[in-house]
Amino acid sequence: MTNQPTLNIAVFAGDGIGPEVMAPCLALLRQVERQVGGFALSFESLPAGAGLYRDEGVALPTSSLEAAREADAILLAAMGLPAVRYPNGTEIAPQIDLRFELGLYAGVRPVRPLPGVAPALADPRAAEIDFVLVRESTEGLFASKDKGEIEGDRVARETLVITRETCEQLFDFTLRLARQRKKAGGKGRATCVDKANVFQAFAFFRQIFDEQAQAYPELVIDHDYVDAVAMKLVRRPWDYDVLVTENMFGDILSDLGAGLIGGMGMAPSADIGARHAVFQPCHGTAPDITGQGKANPTAMFLSAAMMLEWLADRHEAPACAEAGRRIRDAVDGAFFSGNLCPFELGGEDGTGRITDAVLAALEEEGR
Ligand code: ATP
Repeated sequence: MTNQPTLNIAVFAGDGIGPEVMAPCLALLRQVERQVGGFALSFESLPAGAGLYRDEGVALPTSSLEAAREADAILLAAMGLPAVRYPNGTEIAPQIDLRFELGLYAGVRPVRPLPGVAPALADPRAAEIDFVLVRESTEGLFASKDKGEIEGDRVARETLVITRETCEQLFDFTLRLARQRKKAGGKGRATCVDKANVFQAFAFFRQIFDEQAQAYPELVIDHDYVDAVAMKLVRRPWDYDVLVTENMFGDILSDLGAGLIGGMGMAPSADIGARHAVFQPCHGTAPDITGQGKANPTAMFLSAAMMLEWLADRHEAPACAEAGRRIRDAVDGAFFSGNLCPFELGGEDGTGRITDAVLAALEEEGR
């Protein structure tokens, strides 16, 4: 009998360009599963999102949430539509609800330019950019989501929350990641990004980071204020290795990171907790390009590669790690040799051409 794990993947295609990037991603996963062997993927498509809320009055049905909870991993494209809102005026965002429901405290956003894609910065060192932003994803300012208050028409209040329990998990994850990257030849640097000079909550955040960092003498440990980091990420992003920050700061800096490597369609992400994980591109539903075949599926593909690598660790399934590596190499190969230039970078390559090029590169690798 072969020891071939079947991994159950909850699939949320969502709204806008979500289904347009999810469909080729599932095709890519099927191809790599066939090519590598040693594991099987079972996909379960689950309804959720702004379109569902508009049509049926519910954004994240309990049945979808429970199926996601039961799955081995969750693959999500994008959710939300600007015109569909809750009565309080906020957008429908079940992807954020999943982070709270499943305790996905670590939002992992790798920032690495693809070979052959012109980086936003002219400096030749831009090709060396290789850092990971870890965004706390269950508290910070987002702890107030759906709980804000408006007093009359005069004052609005939303409160930031930092807890020791979540910080300890978050920093443990961050520091282990920096250690792993150092073993693989990385810089071995972990930077805490905060605003400890103004807010007690951030002084507390930094203090816990420093406490945990003592167990990692092999790493270079530092801190910086978020405003300074925003500037340094534009001036010298190649200096960074692993950065960790609060939810709202991470939300903003991760878009800056995506901008450094070409755009939202290039930036993958994972939201990881103790038991569950959601893998999704950093971008949203991009209503301005929906239905035009212009969506860049690269971030979705790279998020699927992160999923396979995470599954490999959890299930001791080295074939999944190999499959993740092959997807990453196929994406690199397609951009390097295929003269691809996505619409978002001013080119003319849409979902179809980019998908075909990546599938062909994967096929080539398998020969
Ligand atoms: P959200 O508010 O959830 O961030 P959004 O769609 O309004 O969602 P982004 O996803 O940040 O915002 O995207 C900003 C713009 O970047 C989009 O309007 C679109 O033009 C472009 N964009 C985003 N994702 C892609 C993609 N995968 N391919 C091509 N262009 C994209």
